[in-house]
Amino acid sequence: MNRTTTDYELVIGLEVHCQLATVTKIFCRCGTSFGDAPNLHTCPVCLGLPGALPVINGHAVQLATRASLALGCTVHETSIFARKNYFYPDLPKGYQISQFDRPLATGGVIDVGPDANGLPRPIGITRVHMEEDAGKSVHDRFAGWTAVDLNRAGTPLIEIVSEPEMHSAADAGAYLRQLKQILEFTQVSDANMEEGSLRVDVNISVRPRGSSTLGTRTELKNLNTFSGVERSIEIEFARQCAVLDAGGEIVQQTMLWDGVRNEIRPARSKEASHDYRYFPDPDLPPLVLTAQFIDAQRADLPELPRARRDRFVAAMGVTRAEAEQLTATRELAEYFEAVVAASRDAKRAANWVLGVMLAALNASGGDIAAPPVSAVRVGALIQLEAAGTVSNTAARQLFGMLLEEDADPAQLAERHGLLKVSDDGALVAWIDAVFAECPVEAERFLAGETKLQGVLVGHVMRKSKGAADPRRLNQLLAARVP
Ligand code: ADP
Ligand code: MG
Ligand code: ZN
Repeated sequence: MNRTTTDYELVIGLEVHCQLATVTKIFCRCGTSFGDAPNLHTCPVCLGLPGALPVINGHAVQLATRASLALGCTVHETSIFARKNYFYPDLPKGYQISQFDRPLATGGVIDVGPDANGLPRPIGITRVHMEEDAGKSVHDRFAGWTAVDLNRAGTPLIEIVSEPEMHSAADAGAYLRQLKQILEFTQVSDANMEEGSLRVDVNISVRPRGSSTLGTRTELKNLNTFSGVERSIEIEFARQCAVLDAGGEIVQQTMLWDGVRNEIRPARSKEASHDYRYFPDPDLPPLVLTAQFIDAQRADLPELPRARRDRFVAAMGVTRAEAEQLTATRELAEYFEAVVAASRDAKRAANWVLGVMLAALNASGGDIAAPPVSAVRVGALIQLEAAGTVSNTAARQLFGMLLEEDADPAQLAERHGLLKVSDDGALVAWIDAVFAECPVEAERFLAGETKLQGVLVGHVMRKSKGAADPRRLNQLLAARVP
């Protein structure tokens, strides 16, 4: 990064568009499923044909309310849908229905802490408002032509606007990860970034360190990866610092991020800067919610990621780092809790889920939403291990078998001779066999080279296919040294 960046403070505010998990669009009954043939999901309303009237989707209102409450916002009993007028081929009505001066909710917070001193780091949320998505211009379908797909036109969105209170790419990344988790945990959205369910506009300015007035900002539009957000912030920060250092001025403008070339360039020129001529949509009455409805949504909120992490640490005795990983997604947290319930051993459950299970998912490209081994089976396996019925090595082998075959772990262990053997007769026979196969190591061990005990234990464990009881085995080996 540019050396001079240390003289400036970076200031970031984020606008996040999130697609709500409804089955139908916000003002008509067309479907919202992703990836279908172009223009399949269209009707007179979302095509903007004359005379067609919008009707608000109750489920969209419910989800938007739930998200606002989960973000700590005040939800207003009255909000207003307005027309945001602009001309673009993928906007058939010539305006987008959005909320403007009377949004659904205001005044929330996302805590990106704890900081180095264990303190919370609240980032303010200015507002949450509802709006409809536009369609999509497709530039690579016919050479030299742009095609328009209106399947997405009218998809329900919320826009979540932050205060300009983030000061590094890492801050922005942390804010977005928390936000995405909250949206997932509350099932407001699938928050799938590849499918465009979460899109981010990044507003960036710099100011001399110590100053409290905001500098002129630029806006990077429509980023859909965390790494894109973080990298583009670094680049734009360095660019603005360099402009100021050279005695120049920052021009307020929209910039585009090219993730392939890792570069930023200006988008539309200043003259195209928008006068949206907002006015209340005459086809839609004010959105009026009762206090009872809002309270019911609040009462219905699930446990949020932060509370869940705290509970995992306080009530289950897992570490903060483990709790962070275990709450990465709601499905993983649910799975972990099911394994705890089945095993009654949270510490071991955390180890198994974060270790063996995540490794298996990585290897297979699977998802914990469809676990390759059920929580009940993993719980039973953990109980066998905890009771000393099978060794850890054998338990791992059994897990491998459970990936192939859904069976009772105790029966599997018996069938494959993996029950732990602590019977002296069998252990002594294995030790003798290993001594015969590795005479040099055995001789050095018996001559007092005690560090070789681990090597010999390893040989016996392998010979016994993990069934030997390591505790008894170690005792027997140590007893052989004269
Ligand atoms: P608009 O809707 O025209 O983009 P807003 O005033 O609603 O403008 O601000 C949008 C976003 O820009 C908010 O997230 C806000 O925090 C952020 N923002 C505003 N001014 C600045 C600034 N000077 N530097 C960084 N971010 C800013
Ligand atoms: Mg903006
Ligand atoms: Zn429609």
